[in-house]
Amino acid sequence: MHKDLQEVLISEDKLQARIKQLGLEISSSYKGRCLTLVGVLKGCVLFLSDLLKNISIDTNVDFIMLSSYSGKQSTGVVRTILDLKQNIEGRDVLIVEDIVDSGLTMSYMLKNMTTRGPRSLEICTMLDKPSCRRVKVPIKYSGFVIPNKFVVGYGLDYNELYRNLPYIGVLKKSVIKVD
Ligand code: 5GP
Repeated sequence: MHKDLQEVLISEDKLQARIKQLGLEISSSYKGRCLTLVGVLKGCVLFLSDLLKNISIDTNVDFIMLSSYSGKQSTGVVRTILDLKQNIEGRDVLIVEDIVDSGLTMSYMLKNMTTRGPRSLEICTMLDKPSCRRVKVPIKYSGFVIPNKFVVGYGLDYNELYRNLPYIGVLKKSVIKVD
């Protein structure tokens, strides 16, 4: 375990086993169609790449980068920093996110993607923190429901560190800077 963590919440084995199941479920739901995964950068990268390997139907991938967090606090204001390269009109779109916390980011994403006229639009998140929800969002596929703890690893960062950990962990209080 990384020295800055107080605990490992979800091990690498558990993550990989759940992602395999999600891949099967998604492949079966979209059977006979071509799926467009829209990854929300940067937190989605490890999850999206492992999920993609477990999807057996035709799939294309695009990315969007949003901003609402700095450090550990959400500002509540979501902005698009980098937009999709593809036109998603008429496509079956599955948004791939690292974690749904307040739901503000996903709510923005849903509104933003809907204006582009996809054939279908659903959400797949690796982690779901329902106790922190401020806006209701319809999550179709969820890896794990977790308690109200600030987690890092497997794509999730704290001040741009820890994304490379292959598991999800909880940071020690002493590592978190209070501003
Ligand atoms: P929401 O808009 O749902 O509050 O938050 C979504 C974004 O906030 C996520 O994509 C993620 O980047 C960040 N976030 C929310 N909770 C956590 C957390 O526990 N750990 C980390 N590292 N990021 C989080």
